[in-house]
Amino acid sequence: MRVAASGLNHLDLWLRQGQPRPRQLPMVPGCDAAGVVAAVGEGVSAWQPGDEVVVNPSLACGRCPQCLADRSVFCPQWGIMGEHYWGSHGQWVVVGEANLVAKPPASSWEEAGSYGLCGLTAYRMLRRARLAAGETLLVVGAGGGVSSAALMLGLRMGARVFATSRQAGKRQRAVALGAEEAFASEGEGPFPVQADVVVDSAGAPTWERSVRSLRPGGRLAVCGATGGGRAQLNLPRLFFGQHEVIGSTMGTFREFAEMTSLLPGRLPVVVDAVFDLADYPAALSRLQSGAQFGKVVLRHPA
Ligand SMILES: [Zn+2]
Repeated sequence: MRVAASGLNHLDLWLRQGQPRPRQLPMVPGCDAAGVVAAVGEGVSAWQPGDEVVVNPSLACGRCPQCLADRSVFCPQWGIMGEHYWGSHGQWVVVGEANLVAKPPASSWEEAGSYGLCGLTAYRMLRRARLAAGETLLVVGAGGGVSSAALMLGLRMGARVFATSRQAGKRQRAVALGAEEAFASEGEGPFPVQADVVVDSAGAPTWERSVRSLRPGGRLAVCGATGGGRAQLNLPRLFFGQHEVIGSTMGTFREFAEMTSLLPGRLPVVVDAVFDLADYPAALSRLQSGAQFGKVVLRHPA
């Protein structure tokens, strides 16, 4: 496949720090991509050269009981392109046919090439948290790839969406995208809203406030710990509130197809900035700075 655009993820930053250590070097990072099928291998029937496609970065064996039950996230051989295997920040990439979906025609290359990992993660998380129309969703730390995807998906699912950020500009952006209100992330006590579902990928810094913002019966979904990985849980609050804490990461192949099917109806992918492939270091710096809202994307030479 010739890559037209590939998206950055926090995984790019972790990988650069050797977390995890690549199985072999050299190693091309990059989880997300959209592009054009250039050639097909023996036995490929789903695609032909010229097809415009999007990569699902999930890798699984496709044969074990978990895979056959559409629970590929629990496959013993489960992995992520760009983490465990050669990734998408190159002009060409080899991908299994099961890892492609057709590019939504209304999406730009930059949108199509950057929604994969974060969109999938946000979609599975909200699905597992059983977010329903009319419920209240609080997205903590709006601005990151998963949180901006959760915000857009939550709106699309008919929820009332609220957001938090440390930065005033990001709070304004969240409201401009459709959040009812956005609050400062710092402070004590619950956020000024009681939510059915709270999505928190910051971890330690916001954990206490997130838990205290749950309604009775509320669900706290965790898919990251960018600000620290250890938190305390007040057990009486958990059981008296009948709360659930849900850990979630990535998603299944069916969830990827479902999430992609939402894009033609213009589920917007929030693209923060586009860099040329050769400017990958500058794109990494943008991600590291934490100033971005949405996805940082690489545009590849034609
Ligand atoms: Zn498997």
